[in-house]
Amino acid sequence: MKNTFLLFGLPGSGKGTQAQRLAEKFGLQHISCGDLFRLHIKSNSEFGQKATTYISRGELTPDKETTMMFLEHLAQQALSNTFVIEGFPRTLPQAAAIESFITAKDGYIKQAIFLDVEVEELVKRISGRRICPICGHIYNLYYFPPQQLEICEIDGALLERRTDDKEQLVRHRLHTYLVTESPVWEYFRTKSLLTKIDAMRPIEEVSSDICQILSDSLASEVGYD
Ligand SMILES: [Zn+2]
Repeated sequence: MKNTFLLFGLPGSGKGTQAQRLAEKFGLQHISCGDLFRLHIKSNSEFGQKATTYISRGELTPDKETTMMFLEHLAQQALSNTFVIEGFPRTLPQAAAIESFITAKDGYIKQAIFLDVEVEELVKRISGRRICPICGHIYNLYYFPPQQLEICEIDGALLERRTDDKEQLVRHRLHTYLVTESPVWEYFRTKSLLTKIDAMRPIEEVSSDICQILSDSLASEVGYD
């Protein structure tokens, strides 16, 4: 865990996509807290059931449970020297927990990258999401709408949205994230580890900026893998 990169951003900021691109481009290990949540929810584990309850209320799953779930997962992995963590930590106690975990493995946090997107834009990105229950095609009513509103162009099925994507809940969720997560960004900023990226721009531009940060950051490293 010599070089750990953290990728921050509110829901809808595109951090999942960016982390995946980064992992592919550099052959890095990528651990997504959001993906772990989804796995637990899908398998209906004890953690998954709790998380579902909180998410449906537009609330965050408590620190203690989230941290335990995440660190347990990390502890089970064969961790490579360089990897990207996405969507964690989201609170100061989580930040402290991951730092001690990494330090205990003689590693350190190399950079924290923050994908900056205006809240109104995030609301559109998230509440506009629609998925086809038949073919799985994903639409966005604002950015890539189907020709006929709410109908899949491929098979004519009525599009669905995730229950936590309704606008009011989205706003509440974003506000909650913003309040708890801002101190974490500030914490890494005061440690001179935070780089802010304007993520209102197209995915490719954002991606190229992040890759540059990683390349520069790793250039000084000997024997990274
Ligand atoms: Zn479809």
